[in-house]
Amino acid sequence: MTLVSGWGRFPVVDTDLVRPRSFPAVGEAFAGASGVARGNGRAYGDAGIGLARTVDMTAFDRVRSFDPDTGRIRLEAGMLLSDIIDTFGPRGFLPFVVPGTRFVTVGGAIAADVHGKNHHCEGGFGRYVDGILLRTGQGETIELSRDENADVFRATVGGMGLTGVILEATMRLRRVETGWIRERVIPAANLRDAVTALDGGDSSTYSVAWIDCVATGENLGRSLIYLGEHARADELPADAAPFSRGRDPRLSVPVDLPSLTLNRYSVRAFNELYYRMGARRAGGSHLVSIFPYFFPLDGVGAWNRIYGRRGFLQHQCVIPQTGAREVLGEILERIARRGDASFLAVLKKLGEGDGLMSFPLPGYTLALDFPMTPSILPFLDELDRLVVAAGGRLYLAKDARQSRATFEAGYPALQRFNGIRRSLDPDGKIRSRLSQRLLDEVRP
Ligand SMILES: Cc1cc2nc3c(=O)[nH]c(=O)nc-3n(C[C@H](O)[C@H](O)[C@H](O)COP(=O)(O)OP(=O)(O)OC[C@H]3O[C@@H](n4cnc5c(N)ncnc54)[C@H](O)[C@@H]3O)c2cc1C
Repeated sequence: MTLVSGWGRFPVVDTDLVRPRSFPAVGEAFAGASGVARGNGRAYGDAGIGLARTVDMTAFDRVRSFDPDTGRIRLEAGMLLSDIIDTFGPRGFLPFVVPGTRFVTVGGAIAADVHGKNHHCEGGFGRYVDGILLRTGQGETIELSRDENADVFRATVGGMGLTGVILEATMRLRRVETGWIRERVIPAANLRDAVTALDGGDSSTYSVAWIDCVATGENLGRSLIYLGEHARADELPADAAPFSRGRDPRLSVPVDLPSLTLNRYSVRAFNELYYRMGARRAGGSHLVSIFPYFFPLDGVGAWNRIYGRRGFLQHQCVIPQTGAREVLGEILERIARRGDASFLAVLKKLGEGDGLMSFPLPGYTLALDFPMTPSILPFLDELDRLVVAAGGRLYLAKDARQSRATFEAGYPALQRFNGIRRSLDPDGKIRSRLSQRLLDEVRP
């Protein structure tokens, strides 16, 4: 048995971790034990941990075919987005959707239907997936698409690995001229201005706000909004390489830092500096590489150790558009009063989700990290009540602690999803710690 956790390092669970190297071996991995597929372990909580067995899919990292005329690619599900970017970026192709880290697998990105900074206008990862080869709990291997096994396709996109193991996927890549983004920074003095700026950025391909969540009073919700577009080749200075490879993290956190390192004062000082430096870049647009633009946190390796041995929790909710400002204001106010939130919160605009259980709905998503302390759990329950009352939901890929009631209130397609799971897997072979906590029938 091996101790395994998600990126938040809570919970840490003893599991039988196996790493098959052939598709038949994936089947054997489910013999005699219930479990779930795992990608690169970037989900924060317990989604990528099997009930008894955890099946690491990272050995499946080959490209099956690529058509340079259309950008259509067939690949194995354990391939990392970072490898797609490094291999196909210089040839003028990037994934349509990337989350805030490039170190996720294609299988993990489909299972969470991950969103990027362009969800408001271009949708989630699943929108660009045309085919999935799935191994079900009963041991069948089936091809899924919008035409073939369409209900299972919709349940697998955003289904957190609970319909089976994704072995391969066919998806479309975006054609780009460069690996650069034309970025515009807009400082917002408070939440109202931040939401207005995000709404004003609806026509921008990419938009995101970084909120200083220790700012209070008139400054509550003080933010920097980053808008972005892919840069054309003729916009680059003559000496700039059109595409450079992503570098490995230049810094890494070598040990668990003591919990003292992150306190009200250090966070306040960091945020003040961050806001002032960002505000200085406001005004016209400038060029940034795709790597710091899309993946700012990838520059520091193992940054999850900053929170110490006890780990941390992320609370990521989405609040429907109507009434969102008031609810987000209330949430930020409670967080600022507590004073132990993370450095920065991220606020993004989302559009309609594509999968049955996809997280996005039209509105605003707010994500914040909190160090794991005894008092944080009841506090987050309080925030959940605000989210549920507003008709919102929490993101399963970031969750380690929401209650069944919160989950059920947020995901109205749950019954249909469970029906599809039962028909694919009547013996309950595909089960994760997350499914046990939130979805599986509770047996006495
Ligand atoms: C720094 C950071 C920033 C992030 N930013 C974003 C963001 O902006 N937007 C966003 O949407 N998410 C974001 N995430 C979350 C991350 O994108 C998702 O959790 C993603 O699912 C992780 O992929 P993974 O390969 O690491 O999968 P894991 O974490 O290992 O697993 C995640 C889920 O995918 C399932 N899964 C994995 N592989 C397979 C497979 N082959 N077949 C079936 N199921 C599978 C697992 O069972 C599990 O339910 C971020 C995470 C980090 C650490």
